[in-house]
Amino acid sequence: MLIVQKFGGTSVGDLERIQNVANRVSKTKKQGNDVVVVVSAMSGETNKLISYAEHFSQTPSRAEMDMLLSSGERVTASLLAIALNEMGHDAVSMTGRKAGIVTDSLHTKARIEEIDPTTMRAALKEGKIIVVAGFQGVSLDGNVTTLGRGGSDLSAVAIAGALEADLCEIYTDVSGIFTTDPRIEPKAKKLEKISYDEMLELASLGAKVLQNRSVELAKKLNVNLVTRTSFSEEEGTLITKEENIMEQPLVSGIALDKNQARISLMGVKDRPGIASEIFNKLAQSEVNVDMIIQNKAHDETTNIDFTVPKGDLHDAKAVVDAFIQTGDIKDDSYNEDICKVSVVGVGMKSHTGVAAKAFSAMASENININMISTSEIKISMVIDEKYAELAVRSLHSIYNLDK
Ligand code: ADP
Ligand code: ASP
Ligand code: MG
Repeated sequence: MLIVQKFGGTSVGDLERIQNVANRVSKTKKQGNDVVVVVSAMSGETNKLISYAEHFSQTPSRAEMDMLLSSGERVTASLLAIALNEMGHDAVSMTGRKAGIVTDSLHTKARIEEIDPTTMRAALKEGKIIVVAGFQGVSLDGNVTTLGRGGSDLSAVAIAGALEADLCEIYTDVSGIFTTDPRIEPKAKKLEKISYDEMLELASLGAKVLQNRSVELAKKLNVNLVTRTSFSEEEGTLITKEENIMEQPLVSGIALDKNQARISLMGVKDRPGIASEIFNKLAQSEVNVDMIIQNKAHDETTNIDFTVPKGDLHDAKAVVDAFIQTGDIKDDSYNEDICKVSVVGVGMKSHTGVAAKAFSAMASENININMISTSEIKISMVIDEKYAELAVRSLHSIYNLDK
């Protein structure tokens, strides 16, 4: 078999853990498999590098950030290759560039355009274990790029797809995908299987156990994806097609996203085309807009509220400021002390009253709901950040996920 194994930050958090990973990879290789390993930076390393940059500038060039951040993964990749070689294996580490990962030029959140697996294939043919530095690629104009936070998951899935691997294992610090973050609700239950679509919703709505784009790609390329822990032999969770899952529960999980901020625009000129202008400008600035609410005010204006990731706030403000200059928007305000809690389940499609139950859970804890959005398979609510964990536990219990 050809197996891609990805090890996240905690799994390579110190030298002893890197040795533990080397032992694990060695075992897989000795069982007769071809192995491509993808590694993250040691835990805390990427944040540390970001704080270094912020020491000098609040708006560092994105291209320089990629040069900086991509270094974290190179450290782990080379250390792991050194450890494997010492154990008698023939291991070689590769940067994203060497592994053939070509991206667009959208620095700090680049998209993979294609993977040229020639170099990796040749190394595998020679019996080598390949250790790829995750989270990075190279743009067509030759600059190093990174794939967004948590992007090593995407590297692993994309490589598994390009090499047509039999399996892609994501090793992390929890034993699989749970009904909610087990660090928030210890009663959370591990799922044996989950569909790509539900996992994609959970990941997009804040469950950082898998990066959302990695799940999207796994679905598209039909990659067999398993999430499991690097600290024991415990079986993990299979992420697979919906038809492979026999019994579909009504709700499969609760997600929490604390990385959201709310932007309120007051006194927006009420004329056709204004929303299109504002949101097109935001899109051009790569601001990722999520929930949107528009209310008519008493005069000839409207109020528009929407949420964006905290990291996009700076760019969003610049766009809003330009509309304030022209008089199209009278006033704005920003709130970073919010969070988004979401209920996800494909079983919701055919049931009524699922949303009402979520609102009851909030009511019973006296939590005010600021914004609501629903789709066929999810309900999301924006609430004050201070109630985040309470809201998650309350939702988890009202849908009996701890049973
Ligand atoms: P890694 O560094 O290995 O990539 P991450 O920190 O990115 O690991 O993701 C693992 C974390 O995801 C877990 O420690 C857990 O707190 C969090 N998490 C959030 N939601 C879930 C969930 N539904 N199931 C499992 N883990 C979750
Ligand atoms: N080190 C990067 C991050 O922290 C990528 C990853 O861990 O997947 O976002
Ligand atoms: Mg991660």
